[in-house]
Amino acid sequence: MLALWGEAVRSVEERIRPTHRDQWLRPISCVGFEGSQIRLHAPNRYQKEWFEDHYLPAILSNLESRTQATYSVLFEVGEEETTKVAPREVVPAAKPAEISAPATKSKGLDTRYEFDNFVVGKANQFAHAAARMVAKVPASKYNPLFIFGGVGLGKTHLLHAVGHEIHRQHPGWTITVVTCEQFVTSFIGSMLNQRRQSGQPSSVNLMEEFRRRYREAPDVLLVDDIQFLAGKDSSQDEFFHTFNALHHAHKQIVLTCDKLPAELHGLEERLRSRFTWGLIAEIGHPDLETRVAILKRKAELEDIDLPDDVALTVATRFRSNVRELEGALVHLSARASLLGCSITKEVAEEILETIASPGPTGLTVETIQREVASYFEVKLHDLNGPKRHRAVAHPRLIAMYLSRQLTQMSYPEIGSRFGGKDHSTVISAFRKIERKLAEDPELRSVISALTTRLCQR
Ligand code: ADP
Ligand code: MG
Repeated sequence: MLALWGEAVRSVEERIRPTHRDQWLRPISCVGFEGSQIRLHAPNRYQKEWFEDHYLPAILSNLESRTQATYSVLFEVGEEETTKVAPREVVPAAKPAEISAPATKSKGLDTRYEFDNFVVGKANQFAHAAARMVAKVPASKYNPLFIFGGVGLGKTHLLHAVGHEIHRQHPGWTITVVTCEQFVTSFIGSMLNQRRQSGQPSSVNLMEEFRRRYREAPDVLLVDDIQFLAGKDSSQDEFFHTFNALHHAHKQIVLTCDKLPAELHGLEERLRSRFTWGLIAEIGHPDLETRVAILKRKAELEDIDLPDDVALTVATRFRSNVRELEGALVHLSARASLLGCSITKEVAEEILETIASPGPTGLTVETIQREVASYFEVKLHDLNGPKRHRAVAHPRLIAMYLSRQLTQMSYPEIGSRFGGKDHSTVISAFRKIERKLAEDPELRSVISALTTRLCQR
């Protein structure tokens, strides 16, 4: 039985990154069987949870399909010695993102978005150089740095890279990174709650707290997607004062935007002009050579074996958007591993045919919900209802993610179709899945399988 368990584990092991294998799979050992119950040992509860979430279902299904039996699992968690020894690299009580950069993560910087992972080409070299310069000597010449460009071209990546670099140079500094949407939501929330609480002398002053957080605390303020301020008068006013306070105090500000300041309609002139005080840097569409380089870099990071001719094939097809380029690579590697073949040019062309259908897919949120519900064997009304246990919550996140990816609905519209959920729920679902996709091969296969099913309808 132990041998069967070992084989089932190996079937999963082959499909995941070596670092994940050593950190999350190997430390879990099988300590015995009692009837249909499998006893496992995990060094700590984080590793237990990670294992349960990521690998256990696949291992069990492999085991069950080979023995035609079902099993339950009992975990022991703790320090006791077991038959297998955990590998050296295991860092207890920390999840993967925290292992690489505990301090920066707590500040909301995305650990994937570093200068080292940013491929420089003609279209982004100026923005990249400007970002590097600002990170090296913050708040000297270029304040604010205003990075603008279309969707999925690397604005957020550069913004966070500046944050990481400054954090390395000045570990004691407070680096505040927010999306403009978070700024606006948090501002409105503080304002409304403040009003509600006024008259209660003991209550904390929420607006003061908000202002301390943005006007006083930051040594560096990084705001993503500043275009979100357009048309929001009171938030603009607040941001205007935030900007002034920080700029006056010689604190670096970096903004990203999908337009030039001059094209930002619905923005007060005084803000527009401030956005041009420093340096404006554009990110354009990457040329073929850069797209190939990005793919190769990404494949290297993800431990995907990507031959040159395949990189070229993918880069030729996905021209305008780096996010799509990355998405294609993820699909490709997931599909290839699902089919048990390596990624050759022929395989790639065939797979790309199914995923690269141009433009909107013509899918509705309802179709996606039905497909996801049937895939996970949950009831449609549970998927759209309030239940929070994992069996429905996980499919729900996936359905929300796919709705955003495959339809042109906005976050609020998608939320309303999931039983009237708030747009922030949909946004957080989307981000969660996007984040997990980077490190979870099982999830990649699920998303890829569902996408293929939906797109082939
Ligand atoms: P934007 O904020 O402009 O919409 P992002 O910064 O989110 O775009 O980039 C989308 C994806 O593409 C991210 O995963 C990012 O890491 C990747 N990306 C964009 N440009 C590059 C680049 N030059 N090198 C490596 N990855 C890139
Ligand atoms: Mg962005």
